[in-house]
Amino acid sequence: MQTVKITSIVAAPLFGASPKGGWSAEIKPDDSVHALVAVHTDQGITGHGSVFTDGRLVAAAIDVLRPLYEGENALEPERVTEKLNQNSFWMGRGGTLTHAISGIDIALWDILGKVTGQPVARLLGGIYRRRVQPYCSLLMQEPARMAETLRAAHESGFRAFKIGWGPFGRAMDTRLDEAIVRAARDAVGPTAKLFVDAGASDAHWPHGLKWALRTAHMLKDYDVGWFEEALRPDAFEDYRELRRASPVPIAGGEVLTRRQAFLPWIVHGALDIVQPDVTKVGGISEQRRIAWLADEFGVKYIGHGWNTAIGLAADLQLAAAMPLTDLVEYIGGSPYVDAICATSPVLDEEGFLAVPDRAGLGVELDREQLARYTPNPAVLFSDRARRARARPLRA
Ligand SMILES: [Mg+2]
Repeated sequence: MQTVKITSIVAAPLFGASPKGGWSAEIKPDDSVHALVAVHTDQGITGHGSVFTDGRLVAAAIDVLRPLYEGENALEPERVTEKLNQNSFWMGRGGTLTHAISGIDIALWDILGKVTGQPVARLLGGIYRRRVQPYCSLLMQEPARMAETLRAAHESGFRAFKIGWGPFGRAMDTRLDEAIVRAARDAVGPTAKLFVDAGASDAHWPHGLKWALRTAHMLKDYDVGWFEEALRPDAFEDYRELRRASPVPIAGGEVLTRRQAFLPWIVHGALDIVQPDVTKVGGISEQRRIAWLADEFGVKYIGHGWNTAIGLAADLQLAAAMPLTDLVEYIGGSPYVDAICATSPVLDEEGFLAVPDRAGLGVELDREQLARYTPNPAVLFSDRARRARARPLRA
């Protein structure tokens, strides 16, 4: 099969059960912060992607990009994605348009896998691991509730955890910050992995380098594996200084997009762990290049994954294809991760997830489950359904 032509691309916004983000302008259940994308082809093969952005913006971006992808070869994800990147420079590169391109790119890799009968990880160059440890990502709460939430997550099989956002740093109370982390470490026990995310990309983050340094030393006492977004996301020089002085590894990069934006952060040593988000950064094609660049400099790549079951599937395939990526992010308690596929992810006895070895991303969206979170799930499955619905509108 030489070509599989793209016939249409559609977006389906997810809302109704959007989980909180710990943001100061908090997400409501009916806000759409994620959208699923389907790329339909003339061979009846459909690929799926995920975008971390309001579904209305994703739909608009897909509409604007149509002349660039319509009729293109769906078997060439990197070239087609780069065509979209290169020819949209004047429309706000790195912004929502790049987020939308991420979903298209993920879907194109899914199609290439389905057509060749290979998991995406193999198409990315080879498989380094068959299973990956998910870390359960949870919002900070006051100590007693934090402990309760973590014990429940531990009970459900997770052995790695990240707590972040919420009152941490924002309550302007360093004793409360420490009490939360102490309660968390006590709840998960000494052998579990524990990470802390200040979430300094939130609006009006109130602290700077001194707070970050002092907090990094506190975190060391609780054997915290990394300190994430400890500074505002553009505070490049302070990140470099923090990385050098901090006794715990420094992580960040979730709000950066495009591989070019990551260059100085990696080359000039601003991070120990780089965390691009595959549903924003430009897709699997972009994420892979950033991950390998980081690898050359001894910077670890662990994807940011506040997304969906499709985003998690992309993260798993990327982790499998990188020599040192042993973790994926897993939002605790989000139905968009746990309840939109034919089967829910299952942790093994050691709290790991198997990397699907089926063709493509290796996961299958479930139409009936999706009907609870998007008004028209049919558009994600069949080009014909989309066209049939479009006809009466024109009449
Ligand atoms: Mg984060």
